[in-house]
Amino acid sequence: MPIRPICITGNPVLHTKAQDVTVFDDSLRQLVQDMYETMDEAPGVGLAAPQIGVNLRIFVYDWDAEDGTPQRGVVINPSLEIFDIPEGEADLDSDSEGCLSVPGERFPLIRADKAILRGVDLEQNPVQIEAEGWFARIFQHEFDHLNGTLYVDRLVEPHKSESERVIAERGWGKDGLTWLPGEEKLEG
Ligand code: ZN
Repeated sequence: MPIRPICITGNPVLHTKAQDVTVFDDSLRQLVQDMYETMDEAPGVGLAAPQIGVNLRIFVYDWDAEDGTPQRGVVINPSLEIFDIPEGEADLDSDSEGCLSVPGERFPLIRADKAILRGVDLEQNPVQIEAEGWFARIFQHEFDHLNGTLYVDRLVEPHKSESERVIAERGWGKDGLTWLPGEEKLEG
């Protein structure tokens, strides 16, 4: 089962703090492989384990830096330090964020411009990545998932009410909803 169903907002696993990984074995390797394949098929620029129903502190990401350098990897048991949070209101064009667990929607949200991600990889080697701009945003978004926070939880008005309206209208916000990347329709 390489491509896994993605949980939609309302599924309790998305709203629960995830647990540290303590066992680094083949099943962890398989899980991370499935996460990469699910992210690629979706497609997305990041995917956290709770989004596929696994309550562990892991996320994968895939993003080309501004200079074109591909950034693709996994981080396990991460911490995140953030810097330079802009003042003012979120911009509809440049700050609009999306989430595979709120599929097809985008809402603007202010995020820090810089972030330092620390954690380990599958071999338990240390990972430390400094990110700026959209790459820093991806880290903040995925890190939030590990603490049971979705980006829509962070929205301010009028975007907060708009997101709540859309989620209700689509019948989301309850347990058991998933969608499978590669399939045309949302699964109920
Ligand atoms: Zn997300």
